[in-house]
Amino acid sequence: MKRRRILVLATGGTIAGAASSPHDTSGYRAGALPVEALMAALPEQEDIRIDARQAFSLDSKDALPEFWQALAREIARVQADPGIDGVVVTHGTDTLEETAWFLHLTLPLAKPVILTGAMRPATAASADGPMNLLQALRVAAQPRAARHGILVVMNSRIHHARHLRKAHSYHVDAFDSADAGPAGVVQDGFVGWLSTPCASAPRFAPDTPLGQVEILADYPGVSPALVAAVIHGGAQGLVWAGYGNGSISSAVQPMLDEARRRGLAIVRASRVGAGRVWRDETAGFVNASGLDPYKARIALMLALGAGMPRGRLQPLFDDLSYS
Ligand code: ASP
Repeated sequence: MKRRRILVLATGGTIAGAASSPHDTSGYRAGALPVEALMAALPEQEDIRIDARQAFSLDSKDALPEFWQALAREIARVQADPGIDGVVVTHGTDTLEETAWFLHLTLPLAKPVILTGAMRPATAASADGPMNLLQALRVAAQPRAARHGILVVMNSRIHHARHLRKAHSYHVDAFDSADAGPAGVVQDGFVGWLSTPCASAPRFAPDTPLGQVEILADYPGVSPALVAAVIHGGAQGLVWAGYGNGSISSAVQPMLDEARRRGLAIVRASRVGAGRVWRDETAGFVNASGLDPYKARIALMLALGAGMPRGRLQPLFDDLSYS
């Protein structure tokens, strides 16, 4: 079998984190170690030739939209290199969802692109980074992986960028794919797929300008002054993380109706964390469908930046819910 050549692009995160004691799994500096240190923890792979490059050294809490765009451009360049068969991106877990989803919306399905990270720093007594990286490499070495779109490997599971969510703040098993379940599993170096390839073509170019979109969450006693500050603050779009099926407190509903009439693009999502927002024609807003508020925001940033007409937003969200 041809030896696959995989590029590891390091961006920082806990997988490259360092603490002063092997006990520490919370107090550490993310992105402290260079990619060479991550590679040194891996066993030799007979069938994979690994190249590694330090692209960024960030705590992913600081991975901003400009970072998504720069990383997408970098990966697109690598995908165009005929010598490289796949890419593994090491990344902080805090905003792994956002970066994976942005890449999913903007990158071609040319070659496997797998993101991974760790919940424990590299210096912890039982660090999860080396196994996650090893498993991500096994998935990246499978040509079939490209046909699933952007994937994330964490704790022996393969998640589709569309469904991935961080569901626990410190457990090693912190990620899931909610109702959809994982796209596959990795065990003893073998990859088992649980879903058929489902990815569609990218919807936007990596360099699409990004519209300014804010998220507001509903809660009992939500402050009309806060809502007013956002809708009059220059945003082009707003994702409303409402109760249950995206419902909106009566105290602020008229403000949102008025903002929508003035041209603000408002997407009704749910703060629940799983499930979907079903149509409510009376609400008059775009429904996030199956996208959570954070994924809905990125889709809306791209759609508004690309100048998509308002009438095409609902079909886009419906379509993305199944991609
Ligand atoms: N704050 C870290 C980061 O996102 C957390 C992690 O990687 O788990 O970079």
